[in-house]
Amino acid sequence: MFAQVIVDIASSAVDRVYTYRIPEGIDLSPGFRVSVPFGSRTIEGYVIGLTETSDLPADRVKDVLGTLEDYPALLPQCLALAKDIQQRFGCPLSTAIRLMLPAQMRGSRVKVKTEPVAQLCLSSEQAQAYLDALPKRQLRKRTLITILMDGEAHTLKDLRAMVRDPRPALEELSADNAVRIFDRETLRAPLFHPLAPSAVPTLTEEQRDAVDELCSGLERAQAGHAGRNTEFLLYGVTGSGKTEVYMRLAEQALSQALGVILLVPEIALTSQMVDWFQTRFGSAAAVLHSRLSAGERFDEWRRIRKGEARLVIGARSAVFAPVDRLGAIIIDEEHEATYFSETFPQYDARQIAHLRCAREGALLLLASATPSIASFAMARRGDYALLTMSRRANGRPLPDITLVDMRRELSLGNRSIFSLTLQKALKETLSSGQQAILFINRRGYSSSVSCLACGNTVKCRQCDVSMAYHRFDQRLHCHYCGASAPFPKVCPVCGSNAIKTIGVGTERVEEEVKRLFPNVRTLRMDMDTTRAHNAHSEIVNAFRSREAQVLIGTQMIAKGLDFPQVTLVGAVLSDLSLNMPDYRAAERTFQLLVQVAGRAGRAQMPGQVVIQTYQPEHYAIAASVSQDYRAYFEGEFARRRADLYPPFTLIARYLIESPSGTVSLDTALALKEKVVQYLNGSSLKKRLLLIRADESPIAFIEGRYRAQVLMKLLNHPDSDQILSHLQAWTGATDQGARITLEINPASLA
Ligand code: ADP
Ligand code: ZN
Ligand code: ZN
Repeated sequence: MFAQVIVDIASSAVDRVYTYRIPEGIDLSPGFRVSVPFGSRTIEGYVIGLTETSDLPADRVKDVLGTLEDYPALLPQCLALAKDIQQRFGCPLSTAIRLMLPAQMRGSRVKVKTEPVAQLCLSSEQAQAYLDALPKRQLRKRTLITILMDGEAHTLKDLRAMVRDPRPALEELSADNAVRIFDRETLRAPLFHPLAPSAVPTLTEEQRDAVDELCSGLERAQAGHAGRNTEFLLYGVTGSGKTEVYMRLAEQALSQALGVILLVPEIALTSQMVDWFQTRFGSAAAVLHSRLSAGERFDEWRRIRKGEARLVIGARSAVFAPVDRLGAIIIDEEHEATYFSETFPQYDARQIAHLRCAREGALLLLASATPSIASFAMARRGDYALLTMSRRANGRPLPDITLVDMRRELSLGNRSIFSLTLQKALKETLSSGQQAILFINRRGYSSSVSCLACGNTVKCRQCDVSMAYHRFDQRLHCHYCGASAPFPKVCPVCGSNAIKTIGVGTERVEEEVKRLFPNVRTLRMDMDTTRAHNAHSEIVNAFRSREAQVLIGTQMIAKGLDFPQVTLVGAVLSDLSLNMPDYRAAERTFQLLVQVAGRAGRAQMPGQVVIQTYQPEHYAIAASVSQDYRAYFEGEFARRRADLYPPFTLIARYLIESPSGTVSLDTALALKEKVVQYLNGSSLKKRLLLIRADESPIAFIEGRYRAQVLMKLLNHPDSDQILSHLQAWTGATDQGARITLEINPASLA
């Protein structure tokens, strides 16, 4: 027998199938990881098929050296998915396969963990006789035998808690053949914060309807009717109880021995969701995300692979989890940009989920209070069945929203970053003992530092961006490359000492709260305060247990959190996300504002929201005030159509980076010519609506100059063909530039 092997080297030069002989005594099936000789080295590979014969001369075929696990690491359906990805993204098969395995599993950088245990090897009568024969003084041995008489294997760690220094006594017992000491496999389990078990709520009518639809969808998917009515978009306002719907669907699937994958935008930000699921489903639930240690990740992955855990909760990459008999994939907050992978192959988890569900007869559920324009458009067209939950599950109304035009505050003589409306609301909230959330989508103290004399703004030495002042270390920081620099005492250009901070960040907001309300305790949640392991959930728990009355944060606080005592939400400067160089800036702004507003008044007390802006007339801001998703959707959809943006078109961008500005720009210009030539004269030419080569909006980052070729393609099945052709021109160039291709990129910076 021969094995067809893909070697685990992510290079297109070796992206082909190699044949190895399977020696006697090695049992293989497709999906096994094996070690094989390759040139003069031994490397890892994946078996993708078996054959009886080989056309190669016998002396040129080498032997498989051995298997790396005693089970196939890749399920057949995952192998098939990897092949799909190889085709679609034009990447080596080994690159696609790597997505399906914990990174540290490759190269055996993580091992199965074991711990020493002791177990009795006597029957209970024998043990009793042994005890009777033991001298009374040998207390330690007597206690050990008594503990071990339950027949179980006890870890030495546990025994140590009951008997001081048990090892020598155990070894004597082992020499007597009374006890066996051996290493037992153990699983590293991620930390989990069990919640007080609460009664499973009675579903609201809207939840009931959604669950019923989903359960029959699950049946249809199982019956192999992929496509129509097995893919759903759940549009449910904030607080409508989407989590409970996911749990009911999961219960239904688990009861039929089917598996479920629940994707969340970022585990750290949705730790509450994980806690809810683990509390209800116990060890049937596994989590997969980047904050786990390599060992925890590996062990969770193995629990899933072995079918011990059938419910997987994880970030984007969990869409590849080795769930056999998949029943459903649920994507929470489906509009989030984190579902796009920015590293090659740049997949969209929603797209992978769609492929997997169709292939494996599973249901797909996308859900959000602010669905992406693309998904809602698909639902309207009938590609997804639309489920709607328009009321909060506990019957509370959506919060009251007030819009404040910040341009008028100055004329009212108010120089604070808080409008008079927000100040008044804060005062009332705090004096009545309720909690408030203040949202600003920028960390640090200021956005930039400028000289009042000459107008110079301090920029990062490596990047084409202004540096932000951070109060905690009193230094300037670059939010792109992480570089920091001291606060300049005088202007480096003109020598003036009139240096001023410009703009507002979380630290500044916190300072303002403390200035206005000196006795109020605050918590701040942004990238600076959540770097440490578990820091995020510590802040969440501190705020929940009312250690502080005001929580200030970036978009981290906008999602998923459920704080019953919060009655006021203030969006301090809503314009920040509007001014991004991205066609989705308005969409993001609307989503963020609706999500953050949704944190207010979730329990008994009604909520109030104050949105501060300099552009009150902007349609995204106006729509977030009325919380009218449909009105916003119609407006945005019409604008996308008129301006030829996705979902009507595909945006593709070559990003070219190199240490030299000329090389980057020249490469971009040459690439543009290449694309035009390739399309000219072919029938595909009509698919290209626009092509442009220039500097990218941020001209350099980390000392690398960035140029781009920006393209708009008609959204047409043909366009896939163009994209996979364009993919071939990526990679390193002879001039030292690096070319990447982005498709509908999350940012056009
Ligand atoms: P969403 O994700 O839709 O914003 P959640 O799932 O966080 O909403 O639910 C909001 C709140 O409503 C939670 O506190 C949840 O426990 C509660 N809830 C959910 N379903 C019900 C129900 N059927 N009856 C009462 N409360 C519910
Ligand atoms: Zn100056
Ligand atoms: Zn920088």
